Amino acid sequence: MSARLEPCVSIDFDSSALDEVVTKTKDWALMHGVCMRSRQNFSPDSINFAPFVLVPSTFPKKEFEKAIELQTLVNEMIYRIANNYEFLKTTLAITNTVDPFTAQLFKIYTTVQEEGVSQEECCGGLFRCDYMLDRDAVRQVEINTIASSFAGICTRVTRLHRFVMQELGHGDKLQQLPENNALEALCGGMLKAWEIYNQPQAVILFIVEDITYNICDQRFHEFEIRKQNPNVRVVRRSLTQLGRGGAVLDAERKLIIDGQEVAVVYFRCGYAPDQYPSADGCEWDARLMIERSKAIKCPSISYHLAGTKKVQQVLAEPGFLERIFDNAEKVAKLRDVFTGLYSLDLNEEGDRAAEMAIENPEKYVLKPQREGGGNNVYGKEVAEVLKQLKDNPERASYILMDIIQPPLLRNWMIRPSTQPMLVDTLSELGIFGVIIGNSKEILHNSMGGHMLRTKIHTANEGGVAAGLGALDSPFLVDL
Ligand code: ADP
Ligand code: MG
Repeated sequence: MSARLEPCVSIDFDSSALDEVVTKTKDWALMHGVCMRSRQNFSPDSINFAPFVLVPSTFPKKEFEKAIELQTLVNEMIYRIANNYEFLKTTLAITNTVDPFTAQLFKIYTTVQEEGVSQEECCGGLFRCDYMLDRDAVRQVEINTIASSFAGICTRVTRLHRFVMQELGHGDKLQQLPENNALEALCGGMLKAWEIYNQPQAVILFIVEDITYNICDQRFHEFEIRKQNPNVRVVRRSLTQLGRGGAVLDAERKLIIDGQEVAVVYFRCGYAPDQYPSADGCEWDARLMIERSKAIKCPSISYHLAGTKKVQQVLAEPGFLERIFDNAEKVAKLRDVFTGLYSLDLNEEGDRAAEMAIENPEKYVLKPQREGGGNNVYGKEVAEVLKQLKDNPERASYILMDIIQPPLLRNWMIRPSTQPMLVDTLSELGIFGVIIGNSKEILHNSMGGHMLRTKIHTANEGGVAAGLGALDSPFLVDL
């Protein structure tokens, strides 16, 4: 049996009271951009409100603060890995032999390394480190180092929940909803990178999908950049457009789009194989061109690779963090949030992990080297897949992880075109981080706000963009 948390306020409404608060809150969401484009009825001219839970989810204050405090250290860890070519090469060596997508990314990384990157050249990281509560302590699920989403919308969700709490007569509890400046922090990071590039006419390039469903989140970033610095222009392009002649690299390695120099490249796409669809590889050509350019990449390909599941697993191996940090306190703090992670390489250690999971599949999650949700294997299927992969080198393209079992919490889930559902939920906390540095030094390192995603407890994954989760915000309590 999973543990339970109590809702932050009573959620027993009669049907007319529920209808009133839900209708009003949906309108609040629509009017403040807590919205997405519909996959079912797509139109570039309309948006739906994004799924949300009616009241903020109870979350232990101590654990929230722990995750917030840890973020600059998480940023530094990724920075150190991303700047360690030998580490990435060794760690991803086997993965690269069995996973063509990671191998292709790695090839670009090697190409630019061998061509020589100047030590002064900066990279930017806009990360989101995701956690779930295991009993009562936060455990790291993964670190997103590319296209970390929802900083824009989640700052509005904090305000949406303040509004709901007031509507429900609980205005006295607002101090338990922590401030959230995720959007300001991430856009501030991009503008800092823009200033470092130091070319007043240069633009910020967003790399986007052909169709963007999470458009409000992306536009919030664009509009926030304008707000913080009215002189900076944002340009949106897909990798396909860039690869089909939409960008050139000049003799000084400046990235030029329609005659405009690019100072900063912000990736909201490019983390999944289907985002490189063309048979002639033009999207890969574009990725290489960007990587070769002197524009500041958020992220560079090295940060992207540092966020792979394989790297996460190797970092959790005994002694590895100690090689990265010569500070026992830092190592202990990071290790404290790790959960069991196991290599599935074709060797004795990998065989032991596979056998352990075949015996007790419900205790583990099987993860391929993919991002973006919907790729992991759960439950009985863990055993089936591992049996199929016995003696198959492809097994090494997966990692195994202990399943985290967060406490359940009852809440109303509100989705477009669906009646409100009273359900048992569980949540995943994301903490954003911003880091800018070159290979010699870190120039900026900060925590960048938070987000909470909540899913029905029976769903394995709760991606909001993928359609399984709902937006939420933490209501902090002393437990
Ligand atoms: P992705 O890169 O696809 O987002 P994640 O590692 O974040 O990969 O996994 C996707 C989702 O699967 C998470 O958001 C979470 O809901 C669930 N999940 C991942 N790892 C675990 C775990 N160890 N225990 C429980 N659920 C997990
Ligand atoms: Mg994830």
